[in-house]
Amino acid sequence: MSIDNKTAMQRIVMAVDLDYFFAQLEEIRRPELKQRPVVVCVFSGRTETSGAVSTANYVARRLGVKSGIPIVLAKKVLAGHPESVFLPVDHPHYDTVSERIMQILSSISPQFEQVSIDEAFLDVSSTVRGKFDAATEIAQKLKAEIIQEEKLTCSIGIGPNKLIAKMAADHGKPNGLFVVPPENVGSFLNDQPLSKLIGIGTKTEKKMEDLGIKTIHDLSKFDTDVLAREFGKNLGPHFKRIAKGIDDDPVITRQVEQIGRIITLKNDASSFSFEDEMIPLYLDIADRLSAQKLKAKVMGIIVITSQLKIKNRANTLDIPTDSVDIISKTANCLFQQFFKNDENLQEGKIRRAGVKVSGLERYGEIDEKERGKSEAQIRTLTDFLQTDGSF
Ligand SMILES: [Mg+2]
Repeated sequence: MSIDNKTAMQRIVMAVDLDYFFAQLEEIRRPELKQRPVVVCVFSGRTETSGAVSTANYVARRLGVKSGIPIVLAKKVLAGHPESVFLPVDHPHYDTVSERIMQILSSISPQFEQVSIDEAFLDVSSTVRGKFDAATEIAQKLKAEIIQEEKLTCSIGIGPNKLIAKMAADHGKPNGLFVVPPENVGSFLNDQPLSKLIGIGTKTEKKMEDLGIKTIHDLSKFDTDVLAREFGKNLGPHFKRIAKGIDDDPVITRQVEQIGRIITLKNDASSFSFEDEMIPLYLDIADRLSAQKLKAKVMGIIVITSQLKIKNRANTLDIPTDSVDIISKTANCLFQQFFKNDENLQEGKIRRAGVKVSGLERYGEIDEKERGKSEAQIRTLTDFLQTDGSF
């Protein structure tokens, strides 16, 4: 187990993984799809079926559809299931929901690392003062909040490091919450096949099998020198360490690169008739900028036509801002310009509209005092556990 020397506090990491994210979002939009195989595809456009499967729901997975396989193959697999649905990826929608969820997650702990559109790590050690029970309670509330806000299920793993947390999240999928305290790391790993160990690819697994390593347990006991000879002097011993559940990789907080929100308009628009609908978005973006002590240099709008064509327009500001006045004036101006140009409406009316800021700069020096302040803005455990309703 990994111990923080200064405080001797147990390190606790949470891995959050949104379940079959793209396909689940499609089910949420169209609940009638829930019982049917849903396959979200990246169509390459060359022929009607060329491209690959991005995500499938569990109904499709049980029938043999996997991420990454060609669409043609998925169609073959589901040939006996005419109720199957094949949908194109809708990145603007997935990005928007992901961002809202990441916002919830990052409010839990200042140590937050987004790994992909649907995965993040949180180091909650200091939030829960090294207590796994308290971390578990936070995870339960987090799952409930994500369901309440987005109707979406996720899987959460809790462990003494990122490796174990991630494996615990995988273990509990879907809609899981699986906790591996330090004393259970050994048995948790030993019960699983080598293929479940994060960081071991199929090639490595094959090579290990040839060496007689069949399980994670075998690997954890294997001769270090032989591993070094076979896999290199860094990688070989690394494999043995992860097989023992050792991982010191820190949860790294990365600065956000852009903040955006998009909505579906009440009515499809062919002029800037939806100014009022945009106001909550402007307010939200300004709030999020100031909460993170950020100012934006680039202001952009996104519009999506009824034929699902996406168009972006942006302006660079002279002075970075977090002011709702400037955000709304600039965005309104971009929308007005957009509708002035008739060419922009050739592909149908506007169905969805959004606003996005980038070129983010943190203002003020982040000295220790500032750091203290921004950490104080993060909900403390007590706040978190005492709030009902939203949490
Ligand atoms: Mg996922």
